[in-house]
Amino acid sequence: MIASKTINKIELDINNIRLDFPILSKKINGKQLIYFDNGSTAQKPKRVIKAIAEYYENQNSNIHRGVHSLSQEITVAYENARINVQKHLNAKHAHEIIFTKGTTDAINLVASIFGKNRISRGDEVLISAMEHHSNILPWQQICLEKGAVLKVIPINDDGELIMSEYKKLLTEKTKIVSVSHVSNTLGTINPVEEIIKLAHEKNIPVLIDGAQAIAHKSVDVTLMDCDFYCFSGHKLFGPTGIGVLYAKEALLNSLPPYQVGGGTIKTVTFEKTVFADLPFKFEAGTPHIEGAIGLAAAIDYVNAVGLNNITNYEEGLLAHASFELEKIEGVKIIGKAKHKASVISFIVEGLHTLDIGIILDQQGIAVRTGHHCTQPLMARFAIDGTVRVSFAFYNTKEEIDFFIKGLIKAIQMLK
Ligand code: PMP
Repeated sequence: MIASKTINKIELDINNIRLDFPILSKKINGKQLIYFDNGSTAQKPKRVIKAIAEYYENQNSNIHRGVHSLSQEITVAYENARINVQKHLNAKHAHEIIFTKGTTDAINLVASIFGKNRISRGDEVLISAMEHHSNILPWQQICLEKGAVLKVIPINDDGELIMSEYKKLLTEKTKIVSVSHVSNTLGTINPVEEIIKLAHEKNIPVLIDGAQAIAHKSVDVTLMDCDFYCFSGHKLFGPTGIGVLYAKEALLNSLPPYQVGGGTIKTVTFEKTVFADLPFKFEAGTPHIEGAIGLAAAIDYVNAVGLNNITNYEEGLLAHASFELEKIEGVKIIGKAKHKASVISFIVEGLHTLDIGIILDQQGIAVRTGHHCTQPLMARFAIDGTVRVSFAFYNTKEEIDFFIKGLIKAIQMLK
């Protein structure tokens, strides 16, 4: 399943890779499934499915609190999963990796603990115009609660952050910057290193929402020097309900727990609690054990394919699909940033995105339509929604060609 030969962009051994994903052979409405909704959630390789089945068949037990062998075995597996994530992100310490329910949960965690402790009346939180609702609402709510102000970095017509405006928005009032690594709607890859460097010059911490980056490129939190980085397991070919918050050790140590209860303590009396060390202080209750096991299997799988191979291969898919889409009369791509991941949003003049999605589905092609949880971004482009195709490394040029034909058919039917 590793890269076989090189033509311009890396060519992956797609036939074998596709065999690793059982769902890809499924028929939808009598047609071969073409799955272009990877930005919503990615499909799972057998390795992940087997790891989860193996957990329930052979390892099921609760972690951290048992002397018996099963409990000890699964505790080791769970903590090894954490080490796997640490290595994948190149974090300095495993205890800087907090398992969460997903990206939304991770951002809520940070907005809650950071917001309660570091944000006061008149302070500012800086996000961008292309953020997912999950990176808007937690900040909006904490700003409302604290009397702080939510500020927004504007974007240009190509869907890129206007960095000169960003610089102006960084002031002594800014308490945190929270922006996406890759936009789920536009595909824009934001210049996160520069964003972080500029914020750090003013001692402002930065959270990077990596939900859409993690499946497409290698992420090095130490090199990037972000203060917080989060992602969801299900977008990285792993299970739903598990995600990751990476945060710098010193920050985590200086902040109080998010939720409290079993697993978060050293000692408890009715008068007083001494909280556990990292990372347990932030993981209340029985965690999503099989989620962590499945996520570790997904990371192993992705690494076997090779993230650089994935990035290069997907660049080829992106270029091909963009080129073919632009040839269709009435199609307008929303988001033409110079640096993009394999996500394309488009509208078709005079047609409703939902109708296009339904007709494509009849042909077995799964795309996403609507606002993609980015309503303010839709408002920025003065549109209601887009059709979004988002590719993974198991997608092919042939699938794109089939989709293009399907789209032309849909347009003819609807006009
Ligand atoms: N941020 C971005 C950029 C996303 O694309 C998504 C999911 N579409 C989220 C946050 C939220 O992720 P989750 O639903 O897995 O918590």
